[in-house]
Amino acid sequence: MTSPRSDLQPATRVVRAGLPDATPGTPYLGGPVFAAPYHAPGDPTQSPFTYGRFDNPTWAAYERALAELEGGPCLLFPSGMAATTAVLATMARPGSTVVMPAESYYTTRVVATQPFAGAWFASQNIRVVQAPTAGTALAEALHAERAHDVSLLWLETPTNPQLDVCDIAALSAQAHAMGARVAVDNTTATPLLQQPLALGADFCVVSDTKAMTGHADLLLGHVAMRDAAHMETLRTWRTRMGVIPGPMEAWLAHRSLATLHVRLAQQCASAQRVAEYLAAHPAVTGVRYPGLAGDPSHAIARTQMRGFGGVLSFELPSADAVTRFFAASALVYEATSFGGVHTSAERRARWGGDVVSDGFVRMSVGLEDAGDLLADLERALRAV
Ligand SMILES: *Cc1c(COP(=O)(O)O)cnc(C)c1O
Repeated sequence: MTSPRSDLQPATRVVRAGLPDATPGTPYLGGPVFAAPYHAPGDPTQSPFTYGRFDNPTWAAYERALAELEGGPCLLFPSGMAATTAVLATMARPGSTVVMPAESYYTTRVVATQPFAGAWFASQNIRVVQAPTAGTALAEALHAERAHDVSLLWLETPTNPQLDVCDIAALSAQAHAMGARVAVDNTTATPLLQQPLALGADFCVVSDTKAMTGHADLLLGHVAMRDAAHMETLRTWRTRMGVIPGPMEAWLAHRSLATLHVRLAQQCASAQRVAEYLAAHPAVTGVRYPGLAGDPSHAIARTQMRGFGGVLSFELPSADAVTRFFAASALVYEATSFGGVHTSAERRARWGGDVVSDGFVRMSVGLEDAGDLLADLERALRAV
């Protein structure tokens, strides 16, 4: 294509003003690449960038960054659930069995077991077997299914919101021996605190909506994989189903990545102090945090995590006590989601999807000064 001619009318010139020269594979829009049909003269296989739904340089840059951190090629999705369903739908073979935690992320369970998404699983004649994450239940469930065709073991560790932990390496070895693939939802840990691929999992699924991006200003998800051969399958799913991320979100996520390490370091340190403080408080009836020496998750978490994350849970005696807690706190936002720079918490039983007590609170520790947080908690717990 030649440059715009100066004899064109202003209406025509404003449409093209300042746009980059026509180079194959580059967008014909300027600046950060949102969506574009790309210049594609001649052989269209010269570049991955041909049509906006197939690939995008802004996604690709963030995917390259994630691949470096995850230790395997990575594909971006518009949300954690889009990443989750991509793996479930392509890796759970029709007629096979999927083993998954009984208390994994609520919507993941819904997709696998309930109408109408669950009806799709049922139409594929896929059996779903659920077992608790803690202890040996998942290993026993796998063993009990040994006569069946288990195509996929789904894990989530630490779980949201109970913060139970399972042994990724041991369960991956057991599943592989049965011919099953293993996917780990690594949302609560992120690749900086836990590396499921290095521990033997085939897929690492993350909701980048949470700690991964940390500013609570976007939704995004990704799948990292050990075997690049799965890339084609997952990419085809993304392209054909049209479950593509927003380039603005990808660009924001990439920008937020630079602070992931400092955010997590602060969140882990503060969450440890908050968990120890809550564990010693008389108004608190229970605390879960994998970093607490007495926590049932601690022994395994120590072997497979580099840090214990910014999420913890605690229990107050009743729903009313939690209401009083929130009313008296000045620093804890009452909100769902987690991993952000602001400390937030919520009473999980209000949703009805998790098997937790009425006074169970999931808390996400942010970047506030830990001393300020502890003083605020002291004030709020006095009101309980
Ligand atoms: C939030 C979350 C998801 C789903 O992610 P979205 O980005 O909200 O779709 C999946 N797994 C876990 C553990 C989560 O916390």
